[in-house]
Amino acid sequence: MSGIYRGRIAPTPSGSLHLGHARTFWTAQERAHQRGGVLVLRNEDLDPDRCKPQFATQMIEDLRWFGFTWHEGPVVGGPFAPYVQSERRAMYLESWRALASAGAIYPSPHSRKDIAEALVAPHDEPGENEPIFPPALRPAPSNFIMPAEPGDVNWRFRVPDGAVITFVDGRHGAVSRTAGVDFGDFLVWRKDGYPSYELAVVHDDHAMRISEVVRGDDLLTSTARQILLYRTLGWQPPAFYHCELVRDAEGRRLAKRTEAVSLAWLREEGRTPEELRLGW
Ligand code: GLU
Repeated sequence: MSGIYRGRIAPTPSGSLHLGHARTFWTAQERAHQRGGVLVLRNEDLDPDRCKPQFATQMIEDLRWFGFTWHEGPVVGGPFAPYVQSERRAMYLESWRALASAGAIYPSPHSRKDIAEALVAPHDEPGENEPIFPPALRPAPSNFIMPAEPGDVNWRFRVPDGAVITFVDGRHGAVSRTAGVDFGDFLVWRKDGYPSYELAVVHDDHAMRISEVVRGDDLLTSTARQILLYRTLGWQPPAFYHCELVRDAEGRRLAKRTEAVSLAWLREEGRTPEELRLGW
């Protein structure tokens, strides 16, 4: 991709940001600064049950306190507004239509699990990958008529079983994942009327002209899924740089659900961002 470097940080306001987020976002900010580029902040608030407005307000405060500044995004605006995913549904629908006209997706029976799986980015732990959606449950392409709207049903992307998706990561070099083995048919649209993480993030990274995506190693498999979406939509994927994850003393990935060292808590304890960044 030519032109100015455009990076992004894309937090989900479903709880407090912790040091793991800060570490990844700091890498994203540094890479944008080193290249004289632009940093975009995008609020990925597509999960109505978990993303609360107070978390979004706190997220902005935490990011500012830690030393993040963004050229485009919530509060500051920019040419690709809105930068809040819950306000971009009409645009995601265009991408759903493009996938539907390519015959790349199919309606998938409703289930609570389907929904739960689509709401958030599927962060991998070794041995903790999502179960592969059974190909036997796919309808044959001729078995349904493509509607003009997704309606209240989940939609999945039909992966090309056995195809090896390879991309060059800025830190790891060549990374490969095999469709149908490392991941299966994944959700692109939820029956509650919103796109899945995979579709929304591809749509937005393309629409916001992101030239490099910096995020955690737990999303390497998602990058392979997303490359399939880029190909089907006829879009050039950005460059990718996956960062090492911050782990706790037991070697587990820091996650909001483990009540990991939140930035808000560290601030209350009197810690300073400069001290927390020592050694980064
Ligand atoms: N909102 C996603 C998350 O918090 C962003 C993942 C990404 O950077 O693509 O996991």
